[in-house]
Amino acid sequence: MARDSRYDVLFEPVRIGPVTAPNRFYQVPHASGMTNSLPRVRAAFRETKAEGGWGVICTGACSIDQTSDDTPLPMATMWDRNDIRAHALMTEAVHRHGSLAGVELWHGGASVMNRASRLPPLSPSGIPWMATHIGFMGNLRPKTMDRSDIKDVLRWQAEGARKARTAGFDIIYVYAGMGYLGYEFLLPEYNKRTDEYGGSLENRVRFVKEMLDVTRDAVGKDCGVALRVSLEELRGRPGTRQQSEAHELIELLSDHADLFDVKMDSSPTDCSASRFTGEGSHEPVIDFVKSMTGKPVVGVGRFTSPDTMVSQIRRGVLDFIGGARPSIADPFLPRKIREGRIEEIRECIGCNICISSWHDSVPVRCTQNPTAGEEWRRGWHPERVEQAARGERILVVGGGPAGLECALTSARAGHEVTLADAGKVWGGRLAFEKTLPGLAAWNRVVDYRLGRLNDMTNVSMYLESALGVDEIIDLAPDHVVVATGARWMRMLYSSMEIPVGQIDHPEVYTPDDIAAGRLPSGPTLVFDFDNYYYGGVLTEHLAAQGLAVSYVTPAGQASAWTIMTNELPLVHKALSRRNVPVTTLQMLKAFDGETATLAHLFTGEETRVHCRSILIVGLRLPRTELLDALEARRVDLETAGIKSVTTIGDALAPGAITHAVHSGHKAARELGMGGTRRLYLRDTPITDCEPGFEQAEAAE
Ligand code: ADP
Ligand code: SF4
Repeated sequence: MARDSRYDVLFEPVRIGPVTAPNRFYQVPHASGMTNSLPRVRAAFRETKAEGGWGVICTGACSIDQTSDDTPLPMATMWDRNDIRAHALMTEAVHRHGSLAGVELWHGGASVMNRASRLPPLSPSGIPWMATHIGFMGNLRPKTMDRSDIKDVLRWQAEGARKARTAGFDIIYVYAGMGYLGYEFLLPEYNKRTDEYGGSLENRVRFVKEMLDVTRDAVGKDCGVALRVSLEELRGRPGTRQQSEAHELIELLSDHADLFDVKMDSSPTDCSASRFTGEGSHEPVIDFVKSMTGKPVVGVGRFTSPDTMVSQIRRGVLDFIGGARPSIADPFLPRKIREGRIEEIRECIGCNICISSWHDSVPVRCTQNPTAGEEWRRGWHPERVEQAARGERILVVGGGPAGLECALTSARAGHEVTLADAGKVWGGRLAFEKTLPGLAAWNRVVDYRLGRLNDMTNVSMYLESALGVDEIIDLAPDHVVVATGARWMRMLYSSMEIPVGQIDHPEVYTPDDIAAGRLPSGPTLVFDFDNYYYGGVLTEHLAAQGLAVSYVTPAGQASAWTIMTNELPLVHKALSRRNVPVTTLQMLKAFDGETATLAHLFTGEETRVHCRSILIVGLRLPRTELLDALEARRVDLETAGIKSVTTIGDALAPGAITHAVHSGHKAARELGMGGTRRLYLRDTPITDCEPGFEQAEAAE
């Protein structure tokens, strides 16, 4: 299909100093959780995006020195020759597809805890980041940088830039965002210096300017020099000559950088979840940048619509369409636009599971794209599926995220697929969840798969078809895949931190009851020990129906795990907006229809709360009825020629939607393998240099 000429502008080449990007699709630096210890995993992950048409592919934060050490969070390093070799795998892979490779050289300043290096963190004035989340807490405060420290960092940046050039990078970053060292110099809250690096904006900008200049002196003839800078705070502060300090900063640095990569100041606003923020949310902060510089500008905003992208370019907001999450969810997004296959774009749903991977210190996982991070270790490609040796008849029972993904990937592998669901609509749990506050975009998981399945001739789909063993035996497929999901339990919670007991009372509800349209009456207490989004979202939902709702959890915060997805601060704001009181560290003990008895998680001290209904968002267990029935009729299945029964998704192990999709994908890739579990390849660090090797000084 020919592409719409409206989108031609997206495919124009753009110069970045001495190098030229082949188009305007720019994968901005983003954490991959892969580090230099998984160099092949990382190279394949980034290469897939270059193959999919992204014109620039960047690394995540890459430390220039051991004083910038975020361990155990995954970070790349550019310290020695082994690092150069590890990165070269990625740059070679990216260049194979004609794209440019960028490296986000990085010094974390006071925002890293140097847990492994045990060197004092560096900062302009010794002001520490004192996080409220344990994952970012540390108890070594930063030292105030003296002039020799500043010189050291400038030297490390120059050395890092030369090493990066040797590794094959085309674009070298200076990083002044997200609370890291360059940013700390820009903000007077961190920077209380009285020398030429503190005070006026000109002085606060000096360190970043010098970082850019040493980078240019080191590699500027060969590589583009990019500045990544957070502008949210500075945009809100009036300048002395221009509208804001952000305006003045861009003006002051315009001649020093070849490209401006502009963003917000903290992860929850920079990489905001779709529950709370729509596409293009950065625009009000970064819309002015092009008016202050002739240099190209890249920005992000979870762009997945080509019309929005074109509008950003045409209106002079951006020169490059930056993407991190859209490039993870669909590495082939640019190519699909170029080839006029818009409806095939696997749009990011904004769930931020990818970000949770970094917080979890593991390679990136994605809800929409189960192949993310699996390109090398499992050999999965986001667009191509290995063709089955011979097409077989696959019956998938259950059309939730797991069943839909399994059906689609099996069909792509060349099988004859039948998909059946008991419900009136496709989507399983999402059929209801998409109607809840902020979750509409999550239904892209269903829309994308249904769209593709509807286009395929080797797929038959049946709704309102609750299948039992007899129906399955009548259909007599070669393989049965059970994707029947899970159900929520009325179980309580013990101070041993495990589910225990149960309350049986007609006014005790589970999320399944709410999904089925049963609404509590009177003041309702939500007791949440699932800890992810669902308890918080259902609380919002009930409050929106006009119920007086209170939220109780044994965790320390509401929806505690959402700290991993950047949502936690916004969950608390949302509950507060709806006047929901939040009580933490409490277990629900008893309920008599009028009063709930709570007990403190640690002290056991009891309190009583008046409420008429209780919603427990706690444990989910697999729906195993069908599986058990199939198990009991094993001989009949064999007689009917059914070779295997595989369970996937929540029916196998209840979890987040990302796990269900991955499970469905994995089963489809492994169908017909006779039940063998395929192990993934284990990557190893590159260690050509002996331990104790001196840091490589420069390009060799
Ligand atoms: P997952 O997240 O693993 O995909 P879901 O709970 O979202 O799980 O989806 C499970 C789907 O399976 C639901 O749509 C449900 O209607 C369907 N289902 C459950 N049991 C049967 C059955 N016996 N026959 C057909 N569909 C079923
Ligand atoms: Fe988008 Fe969610 Fe995938 Fe991240 S995990 S890229 S937010 S769909």
